[in-house]
Amino acid sequence: MVIHTPQATVPHAFLMSDLHLDAGRPDLTGIFLHFLQEAPGRVGELYLLGDIFEAWVGDDDDAPWLAPVIDALRRASDAGVRIHFQHGNRDFLLGEAFAARTGMALLPEVLSLELGGVATVLCHGDALCTDDVDYQAFRNRSRDPAWQAQVLAMPLEARRGLARQLRQESKDGQQQRLAEGQPLTDVNETSVRQCMSDHGAARLIHGHTHRPAVHRVTLVGGHVGERVVLADWRAEGEVLEVRPDGSFQRHPLKA
Ligand code: MN
Repeated sequence: MVIHTPQATVPHAFLMSDLHLDAGRPDLTGIFLHFLQEAPGRVGELYLLGDIFEAWVGDDDDAPWLAPVIDALRRASDAGVRIHFQHGNRDFLLGEAFAARTGMALLPEVLSLELGGVATVLCHGDALCTDDVDYQAFRNRSRDPAWQAQVLAMPLEARRGLARQLRQESKDGQQQRLAEGQPLTDVNETSVRQCMSDHGAARLIHGHTHRPAVHRVTLVGGHVGERVVLADWRAEGEVLEVRPDGSFQRHPLKA
């Protein structure tokens, strides 16, 4: 159970996704650590919308590069930053033990809330890519608690091997699509409208597609909503700030 340190509310919310942190990208890890260091007093709520880690093999992962990340998350949450974590398609195995260690709260895969007075839905975004039938089949399998329990029961080294294999398969699949001239998967517009309508949301914020943009969405009844896509961190970092008046701004984060 996570108990947030009470303090005067800082209403600005910050959102980020698709950092894909990994032992091989110390530059990105450095940007993230710096952001967390500067967060207390400035960031009220931090929403991590999935694929924060390139892979997650279990909360018992003892990789040395993770130690400063755990420490920085813990310090930020102890200093009053409320950190929320939503699973992506890379770090879906991140569990309650890691959340408790870092002071983060785990979110459901779709979260409906008011952000800056705007009815908003937050999700990673992969569940909206319904045109990719193969991926959705894998997603269903990998989100099954029985499958997850079976994987987590494997020795750590075997899980690392499995993670490498899944990443390679994902890369091969993307290369094959490119070679065949197929576009890489994006969200399905009908799934977007459905998700927003189901939650009565005027704004949807997600990541996953690595296609940062703001799209107009025509909702049921003719209302116009918007879909805000977060940037990935391949080149540099980015965080989206949602202000108390509902306006938002992207901030680049450099090393
Ligand atoms: Mn993703």
